Amino acid sequence: MGKYFSIAEFVKSDTADRKGINNRIPHEFVPHVENLIDKVLDPLREWYGKPIYVNSGYRCPELNRAVGGVGNSYHLLGCAADLDTRLSKSENGKLFEYIKEHLPFTELGWEGNGAWIHVALVLGREEEKEVFYA
Ligand SMILES: [Zn+2]
Repeated sequence: MGKYFSIAEFVKSDTADRKGINNRIPHEFVPHVENLIDKVLDPLREWYGKPIYVNSGYRCPELNRAVGGVGNSYHLLGCAADLDTRLSKSENGKLFEYIKEHLPFTELGWEGNGAWIHVALVLGREEEKEVFYA
C-alpha cells in the first residue's frame, strides 16, 4: 500500500455509516485503488507536503445511489477519489493544476466549484486526461 494513503480511507464514508451501508470493497477492485494511490495520490501528496483528505473513494452501488453518484461512476470500481485540502479552493486548485500538468489520469474534475477535486485513473487508460469543470 501507499506511503500516505490507505484502503481504509477509501472505504470510509460518513453517509455509509449513517445509513448502515456496508461499503466493503471487493478484492478484485483493490488493485484499482493501489494504482491510483501509487501513480497519483502519493506523488501528489509528496509534492504538496501537507495533508490531503479523501472525501469519497470506493462506493458500493448502494452508497453511490445514496450520494447521488452517476451510474457509471469510476468510484464504483475503486478507480476514483474526491480530494480536498480542507483549506481553501485556491489550495484545492494547486492540487488540480499539479495533477493536470504532471500526473497520469483518466478523469480530472473541478467539482462543486473547487470544493473538491475528482480524479480517476483506470488501468490502461492513464493518458486519456479528460478534464471537466462542474
Ligand atoms: Zn468523484
